[in-house]
Amino acid sequence: MPTRVELDFMVRSRVTEGGFEEALRLLRVTSEVVGDHLILIDRDLRILYINHTAPGLTPEDVVGQPITSFVPPEYDSVLRACFENVARTRTRDFYETAYVDNEGNNLLFDTRVSPWIENGELEGFALVSSQVTQREALQVDMHRLFHLSQDLLAIGGMDGFFRYVNPAFERALGWSIDQITSSPWLDFVHPEDKAASRAAFDGLADGEPVFDFRNRYRHRDGGYRDLVWRISLGTNDTFYGVARDDSERTSLERQLERSQKMQVVGQLAGGIAHDFNNLLTAVLVNGNLAIRQLDDAHPAKHMVREMIAAAELSAALTKQLLTFSGRRKLDTQTLDLSELAKRMVGMLRRTIPENVSIEVVHGDEPVCTRADPGQIEQVLLNLCVNARDAMPKGGHLTIETASVTLRDEAHAMLVVRDDGVGMTPQQRERIFEPFFTTKRGGHGTGLGMAVVYGIVERHGGVIQVESIMGEGTTVRVYLPADREAEFSCPPEPTTADSAGRGVILVAEDEPMVRRVLEMVLGQAGYTVLVAEDGAEACEVFEARSAEIDLVLLDVIMPRLGGPDALRRMRTRRPVKALLASGYSSAALDGSDLADVPLIDKPFRADALLAMVREILDAT
Ligand code: ADP
Ligand code: MG
Repeated sequence: MPTRVELDFMVRSRVTEGGFEEALRLLRVTSEVVGDHLILIDRDLRILYINHTAPGLTPEDVVGQPITSFVPPEYDSVLRACFENVARTRTRDFYETAYVDNEGNNLLFDTRVSPWIENGELEGFALVSSQVTQREALQVDMHRLFHLSQDLLAIGGMDGFFRYVNPAFERALGWSIDQITSSPWLDFVHPEDKAASRAAFDGLADGEPVFDFRNRYRHRDGGYRDLVWRISLGTNDTFYGVARDDSERTSLERQLERSQKMQVVGQLAGGIAHDFNNLLTAVLVNGNLAIRQLDDAHPAKHMVREMIAAAELSAALTKQLLTFSGRRKLDTQTLDLSELAKRMVGMLRRTIPENVSIEVVHGDEPVCTRADPGQIEQVLLNLCVNARDAMPKGGHLTIETASVTLRDEAHAMLVVRDDGVGMTPQQRERIFEPFFTTKRGGHGTGLGMAVVYGIVERHGGVIQVESIMGEGTTVRVYLPADREAEFSCPPEPTTADSAGRGVILVAEDEPMVRRVLEMVLGQAGYTVLVAEDGAEACEVFEARSAEIDLVLLDVIMPRLGGPDALRRMRTRRPVKALLASGYSSAALDGSDLADVPLIDKPFRADALLAMVREILDAT
């Protein structure tokens, strides 16, 4: 008994003679002669019937196998999506696949898929698969390349909209392809780059190709990506654009540029600061001496006090410069950041206006690192001052310390958070640059964050800055943890008793400083011998060795520096010594002179006298 289909076929082909047998024969001929592949698959995508197979395969090989096993793996999802769609909508759909035949030819097929429905049930799918012509194949190739490309590819219209962009756009900029094509491309360009981009585009229309043109495109995350473009006119009022995301390289270059800039400025600043230090020492010491000569009623007393105050401010600034330039010696010890924060809060309270509340958040355990306390105080101070400046109308300042893990290493963390004005991403980029400041009218030096950067880097630490415009800023400083060490408080400064007795040999090449030292020590009761450099100091020492109780030597002097002079003297006999320097004397660390006390220039007379006293009193 013929089936409905066979009867139907018999009717449509008007096969009457030969009847059912003949109808079947014609059906077979049709399916064999036709160039396309006719395939029937079930709901599980298994092949039930195929009229003929690609070279190298026989129907026996393929019948019963899932159709997906005859396409390259990357097409698997394409096929499944198509079948799902056909099953759901019960309408036709199509897909394109590649197939590599047994001779290695890459063949392309365009397959139309129809739902196979019987009695209202989806039984499977009927497929007609045709090999694609060369021209069409080229299109398919282009399409695949378009999708594969890591570079950003676009076809745009002269109306200012992109018509097609490839998925690399989505990956680089975070927006969906629809979002990118539904607004004019200029909307995504950084405001500062709009004019130049517009001009390049206008030039393009006049036949000027765009080559290695750079602009910044807005990313969905609010930041920008640096794109480098090559653009040429296309057909039918279009242009072709290829862009490369250059952000990573640009940011590396910026980092390098920044660190080179820091180095150069550091050297420059350090050089000036060193000479300046000597002069300030003279100003400060003379000022201190002069003020002692004046009784309170003296009309000049007030002026001298002002002068000293100004010199002290200059000295503080010079110290910042020296710190930043890395010329100051690191005096590392175990330091509990929580203790440091608690200790500094009083001082901060005095510098920060009342409408800013200050909160210190810390746990019970010490948060230890090995660091130079003076320098970490400087970091905290600079960060808090910036926070204060960011909250002109008042707000909340939080200082937090904690032991944390960063990149698998234990760190001591110091956080300064404000709810002030915040920064733009562009400002945030530049805050570590020396002399970068947004504070007008001489309110900012632009050195604060540069100094913070220098100090943290020298301690082997890391800084992270997060800021949102209008919401505030959080700066996190991570210093390597010192978990082993037991915490010890830094010693309290001792008060000086200035009545001196003994002979001190002073070597200092700068005449003004030498005279000042002579005067200060002399007035304090010491007998002072002077030398212009290390070599002369050695001669004096040679001649009067027995009398000398202490040698005070500048570290850097012509002919012979302090350290070498001291070594030479000590070959004759042990002698107490004090080295004076504006530079970091890191070279002395770990050397035979590592335990020789060092005084930083510029120093105040009483600080010098206290130190001399201490050394002489020590047994
Ligand atoms: P200065 O404070 O002298 O301007 P800094 O190096 O300390 O120099 O800071 C540089 C710039 O970084 C500031 O001018 C300001 O624009 C920005 N900045 C630093 N800290 C903050 C902060 N907490 N909130 C907002 N902006 C800040
Ligand atoms: Mg500052």
